[in-house]
Amino acid sequence: MLIDTHCHLDFPDFEAERDAVVERAREAGVAQMVTISTRVKRFDTILAIAEKYPNVFCSVGTHPHNADEELDVTADDLVRLSAHSKVVAIGEAGLDYFYDNAPRDAQAEGLRRHIAAARTTGLPLVIHSRSADDDMAAILTEESGKGAFPFLLHCFSAGPDLARIGVELGGYVSFSGILTFPKSEELRDIARTVPRDRMIVETDAPYLAPKPFRGKRNEPAYVAHTAEVLAQAIGVSSEEIAEITTENAFRIFSKMPRL
Ligand SMILES: [Zn+2]
Ligand SMILES: [Zn+2]
Repeated sequence: MLIDTHCHLDFPDFEAERDAVVERAREAGVAQMVTISTRVKRFDTILAIAEKYPNVFCSVGTHPHNADEELDVTADDLVRLSAHSKVVAIGEAGLDYFYDNAPRDAQAEGLRRHIAAARTTGLPLVIHSRSADDDMAAILTEESGKGAFPFLLHCFSAGPDLARIGVELGGYVSFSGILTFPKSEELRDIARTVPRDRMIVETDAPYLAPKPFRGKRNEPAYVAHTAEVLAQAIGVSSEEIAEITTENAFRIFSKMPRL
């Protein structure tokens, strides 16, 4: 049994066959999944998907790409929307300096609001961080100093320092299909440094399909391929990695019931 802690089932890629995608996940041993919000304006759509499938849960938040479009969304708004029983996380929010789709100050402001909501609710903040290691480490360190909040570094592809600082601050590290790519040797090295009680897996579907599906549309059923590479990287069996990552997922996503 595995948990896909990060997918985007509301994306148009899945519109025509969402039922089949959720069913294939179940058949592949993916017992539960979290579909992640990228825009609070689309929250109703995401919530409807989570309400339709008993084993699908969701988050609420604004992706850094859209940060400047949703600066009217307050931390209180996020707290209010997260009260629904199907909402088990805040985000994804963060910093993306690779694409810089939104101004960096808007990304940082959005991130801090999501941190405030995570601190208030105790729900984990799903952090998106790309090419922004130093600023992300600085904000996480500063905000943790104001009061702890649960968080995970999703689709981890940053350097070893951000992984170390994230773990020191109590965070979890989530590995995606990137871990399976031949050139990701540094990432597999980083995985060996992450404590076993802090690692989880995700697909980030429809993006980043793992080997052997690289370049195709990703879906939650494929999370097993990332888990398998993680198992090999840290030297445990397939059964052990499933148990490790599932236990960790339920610990960090503490509001998500075990079905
Ligand atoms: Zn992301
Ligand atoms: Zn995502």
